[in-house]
Amino acid sequence: MSLAYEEKASAGLAALGLATAAAQLDQAAQQAAAAAWSYTHFLGYLLEGELRVRREKTVRLNLQFARLPYPKRLEEFDFAQQPSLDRRLVDELATLRFLQEGRNLLLLGPPGVGKTHLAIALGILTAEAGHRLYFTTAIEMTRRLAKAMAENRLSREIKNLTRPKLLIVDEVGYLALEPVQASLLFQVVSERYERSQPIILTSNKAFSDWGQVFAGDAIMATAALDRLLHRSTIVNIRGDSFRLKQKRQAKAALIPEVTQP
Ligand code: ADP
Ligand code: MG
Repeated sequence: MSLAYEEKASAGLAALGLATAAAQLDQAAQQAAAAAWSYTHFLGYLLEGELRVRREKTVRLNLQFARLPYPKRLEEFDFAQQPSLDRRLVDELATLRFLQEGRNLLLLGPPGVGKTHLAIALGILTAEAGHRLYFTTAIEMTRRLAKAMAENRLSREIKNLTRPKLLIVDEVGYLALEPVQASLLFQVVSERYERSQPIILTSNKAFSDWGQVFAGDAIMATAALDRLLHRSTIVNIRGDSFRLKQKRQAKAALIPEVTQP
């Protein structure tokens, strides 16, 4: 009788979709017998292995789905190089409370100051916390939406951009949008706002220039900003481009002192 149950254990776990637990069953049972584990200790051990593997798989899939251009972590960000940035604010963002609150994050500043780096780093934390996210640039997203509109599948495409817990829209304002593209960007902002789904947006343009960003449509720009700013954190990063700074430092190290007048 008991032998029959032992034979059923592994197949039963597998049938329930607990593949990791099924694979670990024999080894775990031996360990349990050798160390005289309680029954609940044994079960907890088996489930922990299953849950760990599932969590890892979820994070892997989230990162695949996200289409981040390259991996960057918060630990790689040198706050000393960026005194205009409040570290405590970034640490608060890293708790991901803004996701639960449906708060947008607007990272503003000139090129090279780390806006994309920070957006990606928060995106990785989002994936690791078990949430879906999607990374795109304003131009890439609106081009894709314009194509979808031409092919009569706009609403599905907008839904795809509304569903992930977080949408990162990089480089808003770098390239001029066509009027149609501007209205498509507005639609995405609007849809996500209605559902309290947060956006991280990076831009090199001051809010006063957002009329230009929206193809000269000041009314649409104002409506988009209203929605983006209603629940939001704004991070203004000032200073020089990190890349150029590094280049300058490297150059200074190469030029011998004697060449100085
Ligand atoms: P932006 O999006 O503001 O134009 P990026 O985030 O692309 O700037 O930064 C440019 C490059 O410099 C990236 O490789 C980024 O990782 C790096 N970088 C920028 N600021 C920092 C920083 N404070 N510490 C470490 N790396 C940085
Ligand atoms: Mg960038």
